[in-house]
Amino acid sequence: MNDLQDLYQDIIMDHNRRPRNFGPVEQPTHKKEGYNPLCGDQIELELKIVDEIVVDVGFTGVGCAISKSSASMMTEEIKGKTLEVVTSMFEQFRRMITVNNENDLDVDLLGDLEILQGVSRYPARIKCATLSWHTLNSALEGDGDTVTTE
Ligand code: ZN
Repeated sequence: MNDLQDLYQDIIMDHNRRPRNFGPVEQPTHKKEGYNPLCGDQIELELKIVDEIVVDVGFTGVGCAISKSSASMMTEEIKGKTLEVVTSMFEQFRRMITVNNENDLDVDLLGDLEILQGVSRYPARIKCATLSWHTLNSALEGDGDTVTTE
């Protein structure tokens, strides 16, 4: 990650050291585990959704700095948002990471998540960055099994 700007790298490392919303949620309505076998990243995501709004979200797990900071930033950005907005964020984030077409992005919607755009230049790390989002998406769709990034 050497050519990421220092500021961006600092923010990512800060989320890695002190992940936000790290821990279980009281009375979660949605729960999902995700696993990225390429890197060994594991996440368990819990959400409390009331009236189509994410009122609480938390995660636990072990993983690399990218997976942990991505999950941490995601929880910060989706808390308090409607499911409709969260779904748009997921689409935007996925496109930012996998397509890297800067002209096409809604950066206001993504907020701090834009920082992770540099990951798109490192194909091996893309699944680290998207693991929490795929887990979120699957949790919202109510799929049964653990999400595995393939
Ligand atoms: Zn990873």
